Amino acid sequence: MLDTGRTARRLESYVQGAWRAGQGEGKPLANAATGEVHAYIGSDGLDFAGALDWGREVGGKALRQYTIHERALMLKEIGLKLMEMKDEFHAESLATGATARDAWPDIDGGIGTMLTFASKARRELPNAKVIPEGAVEGLSRDGSFVGQHILVPMQGVAIHINAFNFPVWGMLEKIAPALIAGMPCLVKPASATAYLSELVVRRILEMGILPDGALQIICGGVGDLLDHVTGQDIVTFTGSATTGRKLKSHPAIVENSVRFTMEADSLNAAILGPDAAPGTPEFDLFIKEVHREMTAKAGQKCTAIRRVLVPKAHEQAVIEALSERLGKTPLGLPDDANARMSALASLGDRDGVREKIAEIAREAEIVFGDPAKVALVSGDAEKGAFLNPVLLRCADPMNASAPHDIEAFGPVATVMAYEGLDQAIEMAMMGKGSLVSSVFTNDPDVAAELVIGVAPFHGRVMLGNRDSAKSSTGHGAPLAPLVHGGPGRAGGGEEMGGMRGVKHFMMRTAVQGTPRLLSAVTGEWVAGAPAEQGTHPFRKSLAELSIGDQLVTERRVITEEDVEHFANFTGDTFYAHMDSDAAKANPFFDDRVAHGYLIASFAAGLFVQPDPGPVLANYGVDNLRFLTPVYFGDSLQVQLTCKQINPREGTIYGEVRWDCRVTNQNDEVVAEYDVLTMVAKSWPLPQE
Ligand code: NDP
Repeated sequence: MLDTGRTARRLESYVQGAWRAGQGEGKPLANAATGEVHAYIGSDGLDFAGALDWGREVGGKALRQYTIHERALMLKEIGLKLMEMKDEFHAESLATGATARDAWPDIDGGIGTMLTFASKARRELPNAKVIPEGAVEGLSRDGSFVGQHILVPMQGVAIHINAFNFPVWGMLEKIAPALIAGMPCLVKPASATAYLSELVVRRILEMGILPDGALQIICGGVGDLLDHVTGQDIVTFTGSATTGRKLKSHPAIVENSVRFTMEADSLNAAILGPDAAPGTPEFDLFIKEVHREMTAKAGQKCTAIRRVLVPKAHEQAVIEALSERLGKTPLGLPDDANARMSALASLGDRDGVREKIAEIAREAEIVFGDPAKVALVSGDAEKGAFLNPVLLRCADPMNASAPHDIEAFGPVATVMAYEGLDQAIEMAMMGKGSLVSSVFTNDPDVAAELVIGVAPFHGRVMLGNRDSAKSSTGHGAPLAPLVHGGPGRAGGGEEMGGMRGVKHFMMRTAVQGTPRLLSAVTGEWVAGAPAEQGTHPFRKSLAELSIGDQLVTERRVITEEDVEHFANFTGDTFYAHMDSDAAKANPFFDDRVAHGYLIASFAAGLFVQPDPGPVLANYGVDNLRFLTPVYFGDSLQVQLTCKQINPREGTIYGEVRWDCRVTNQNDEVVAEYDVLTMVAKSWPLPQE
């Protein structure tokens, strides 16, 4: 139910270890759909510099005591608990003008994004405080000087200045990677919908899972906060290009080279392929998607479709089909089941959108909807920020600027016809950089030409066709494993993108030195670093195993019978193993060679210790390369070294990565790879 008659809440900020209200009553925040005062906001008198210090000194230091997996597990626990509380967030979300369908990507999507980060981090990053990145680079002939990149958390505060339209997702998709990286966060939600962000932060802090100082929130203006940023802080901004530019050029940000990520407005396009004529599934999907993107969250989405690019031949059909669908979009209160769309976030937003429509209409005609009139199934058109969808058509899009430049942040889009794919690409680029475009086609050539043509101007391009009609996540949804952001007008930032998102909050440092010292820094064995031979390393549990524990095996001679047997047994009778003349004709071989997989199998036969023991399973190999051909009579030996130990939190095992090097009688490396195993933390296994 909407909150008629409830007492408006004074929002507080959580800074320096306590919830604090700013001075005075605060500024009233209206319920978007009813106009009633829902909350009061204000942060006057707070110590913003103190909040930053608290984050750095208390939050950052505490977070850095934990490993990446430990931090990710905190977020998993928080995410699961937030899921249980989501009804409370959905109830609060009604005040933002979001219907249940609108709120789902914000609330459930935001928590889901946090959980995805928590899970991917434990799968893809080491359970360590330092992330080694990429291969070890040899920097000297004798191997005594090598280099590698490492990532460590920045020691400042991640300041997230967020937009009003996704008060939950916009916050969680940023704090999740930052906290996993080990950076404390200070969230500044947009005032208009800060009550929902504040509620979620309250619930998170009440859980007592995060160390103090790891998460702070400022509800209201940020005062002199940015005057106190240092080169170790990171600022992420989502909102208007004007504010973004202003903040990006703040003297302290410029002087201290503060990492600043900006995600601003964007005139995203949906492009209908020439093959997608009326009557095709792609045409119908296109209409459905444009309609959805115009009406979801009343068009107040950074990824919403603003420009509808269609082949000239299908322009009229698109306008008719869209108009028909928009005409069946009842507008009303967010909790009214009969309403398909609800209010904008504020009356001010509605005025702004109307002004923008008028500006676009100087170069386009309105073909559906009257921006001045509001038709509702429920609610009050004067008090609530309702606006019916408006569709425009621009007759001369290649010579127009307003439809490509002016973002009406509401249920508004402009249809523009193109002639030929080159023109479609040029038109998409006239948005000067967007977060996302979608291409609807069933023709692979059209897909390739359009995507490659528009990609330099987009952070994401979605292809829509009949085969993904049911499975597609849609044009508008940024996804945790994929990047979100866009060049140029879209702000030039990049968020999420899987573990890239975590690394945005870390410092990448190139470390150079001897293998022994590099190994000490990264916690991973590096070829050339000291190794310890003794007890077979497969007899050691994680408690006993150390980086550098090594086994050098006996030798095994490869015979023609071995190769024939393997070929006939497996069915791999490729000529290079079976036919001497054919093998000799091959530029890589002097004669018949052993199968690469035979070498890997014999290597396992050489290094394995067969008795039941702490090595529980082999789950694969990484980076397998066969480097030198193996001929009959060659004698192989394996050097297996413990390279990385990754204990899994909350389980009885961990992952161990072994450096495996197979050499021949001339000490030439014939095969090289990482063997991946699960090893028990203690042996014998604990009794249940
Ligand atoms: P703003 O740029 O005004 O606000 C964005 C954020 O910046 C808010 O948290 C705002 O806080 C904060 N902010 C504003 N001024 C300052 C300042 N001087 N110092 C520090 N923080 C500041 O954008 P709006 O939210 O009003 O949205 C306006 C337009 O932004 C939309 O019409 C749309 O074009 C675009 N937009 C783009 C989005 C995207 O995802 N790309 C999302 C939402 C909007 P406060 O609210 O307290 O002023």
